[in-house]
Amino acid sequence: MFIDSHCHINFPELAARMPEILAKMAENRVTHALCVSVNLPEFPSVLALAEQYPHIYASVGVHPDYEDTPEPTVEQLVQLADHPKIVAIGETGLDYYRLEGDLEWQRERFRTHIRASRATGKPLIIHTRAASADTIRILQEEGAGVDQGGVAGVMHCFTETLDVALAAVEMGFYISFSGIVTFKSAKDLQAVAQALPLDRILIETDSPYLAPVPFRGRVNEPGYVAHVAEFLATLKDVPLPDIAAATTANFHTLFKTGA
Ligand SMILES: [Zn+2]
Ligand SMILES: [Zn+2]
Repeated sequence: MFIDSHCHINFPELAARMPEILAKMAENRVTHALCVSVNLPEFPSVLALAEQYPHIYASVGVHPDYEDTPEPTVEQLVQLADHPKIVAIGETGLDYYRLEGDLEWQRERFRTHIRASRATGKPLIIHTRAASADTIRILQEEGAGVDQGGVAGVMHCFTETLDVALAAVEMGFYISFSGIVTFKSAKDLQAVAQALPLDRILIETDSPYLAPVPFRGRVNEPGYVAHVAEFLATLKDVPLPDIAAATTANFHTLFKTGA
């Protein structure tokens, strides 16, 4: 049994095919998926999926790549997160790769999410790209780590170095691997996955993007997370059921979703 810890099945290319997507999840023994919010206008479509399907969870947050979108306040995030199926705050973080110029607004938005996480006790889903030093610094400044009274979270779709992963782990965070880890070119990332202990790892699709091998280039979907797990089993030389059990337990521990 596997769990897709990060997907965007409310995006039109997937939302239009829900029966098919749920069937593929069942076929591949993917029991749950976490549908992640990227902005407030689209949040109702994320929440609607979580309310409709018992095994779909949701988050609330505004992605750092959305520049011209309503800016959330801490109070707003806290209020929207007050729902049993909203299990996390995010995705949030910093992305210096996709956007340029003065990105102080990204850092402010990130701080808003960390404060909402602390206020609600719900973990953070962190997106970080070409910005790992600032990401770790702001997490520490805002007390996001469990050692600082925060609730930690997950560094999703991880593509950074082992040092960054270990800094996050030190604060109580989990590291989530997407289909990127299966790509032939991802040797450095594979070394990171190999080095991390099983009790810190999550798996995800980030669908509709980033389909894993052997579906690279196609539209991704939660059922394909099983291929990420299979790849990690081979890479880490661990039986697949152990990868499945660990990543499933880690998900339930982090998001307090029970067994
Ligand atoms: Zn992301
Ligand atoms: Zn995402």
